[in-house]
Amino acid sequence: MLKLIRAATVLTGRPGESIRNGEVLVDGTRIAGVGERGSLDVPPSALVLDLPGRTLMPGLVDAHVHLGFDDRVDPVTGQTAESDPRLLLRMAENARKLVSAGVTLARDLGGRNFLDVALRDSIAAGLTVGPNLLVATRPITPTGGHCWYMGGEADDLSGVRRVARENLRAGADVLKVMASGGQMTAVAPPAWRSQFDVTQLRAIVEEAELRGKGVAAHAHSPESISDVLEAGVTTIEHCTFLTPTGYAYDADLVARIASSGVYVCPTVHGQFEAIRSRVGSAPLDGWLSMLTRMRDAGVRLVAGDDCGFHLGDLDKAADDYVGGLEVFALAGFSAAEIIELATVTAAAACGVGDETGSLDAGKRADIIAVHGDPLFDLAALREIDLVLVAGRAVTQSGVDTVAGSSGGGPDSLRSDPGGGP
Ligand SMILES: [Zn+2]
Repeated sequence: MLKLIRAATVLTGRPGESIRNGEVLVDGTRIAGVGERGSLDVPPSALVLDLPGRTLMPGLVDAHVHLGFDDRVDPVTGQTAESDPRLLLRMAENARKLVSAGVTLARDLGGRNFLDVALRDSIAAGLTVGPNLLVATRPITPTGGHCWYMGGEADDLSGVRRVARENLRAGADVLKVMASGGQMTAVAPPAWRSQFDVTQLRAIVEEAELRGKGVAAHAHSPESISDVLEAGVTTIEHCTFLTPTGYAYDADLVARIASSGVYVCPTVHGQFEAIRSRVGSAPLDGWLSMLTRMRDAGVRLVAGDDCGFHLGDLDKAADDYVGGLEVFALAGFSAAEIIELATVTAAAACGVGDETGSLDAGKRADIIAVHGDPLFDLAALREIDLVLVAGRAVTQSGVDTVAGSSGGGPDSLRSDPGGGP
């Protein structure tokens, strides 16, 4: 089925490229053409969708989510309050929320029992609604290390290779390694301590590369950031330069990150202001300035909000993706820069830049329409009128779709799904 979508503006995803009175032709799951209104060769049988006042753009990309993080897991005992079947249903609901916010590609960086594989395949098969998913399955971590209860414990070289191979055998699209400790696991080393050495990290990279996959490394401390860089990972997650006494931005290390071409996902999320009101401005302003300094140094930053993880009683909800983008604006990023790091750069970081992330003929039809022009007002991204995932409309103004319950435009139908978890 050919679909021609016309809109006031088309942002292709290529930096700064904006087409006034543009149109996009969709053929099944693929984009068949992009151009000015009337410029494409369109057969009369094509369905025409006119979206005046709207902007068409690539679907948003969330490079770091945990759809199946169960905040009721007791990290000390490993006891879970939620059964796998119920958790899988909650993951499906989180996936629906994500796509309702305009996210058409998400990378899940850790969960238990390969439920993420089941969810990814179910979405792809049309059994449930969500973004295209790339999944990491169990994060590799030492016994009792950060997020050990997700099931990916390994302590030595053969151990990390085994868990890496088991994850890949089970269908992981990417490997996740917890290179440093973290703040979410009571018994784990603190975030500023390393959990693996370079040899072990390199073994994980080798296992992934053998199968054409990448590695996402959770790294807070300068030492762990330096180690994962040396090991050759694809993306560095968090990258906070955390030390026992606070953030210690390291310009030399950042220069190495920039020249390596590795992507950094600083896991910027929408609870920033809530946290600032509790802990005060000073530490968070320091963190914001690290974002701009990394950008200025040429680091390839990408959007990813770590949704699923609670911060104490703060819920990083799956449908608050744009809240994270607004924090980049607070740090001084332009709307064009933010859209780039949320689409084309994030898709490249996830290893699927040839497949999606921009509006180009031949790419997958992962497309959203928003009310207004986000290049002039980023808040337009909160007014979603249309979401196509691989050409399939999952949210559309005026049409009662299953995913249309949040993030809808002013004239869209809404049905409040009620309180989330
Ligand atoms: Zn995470």
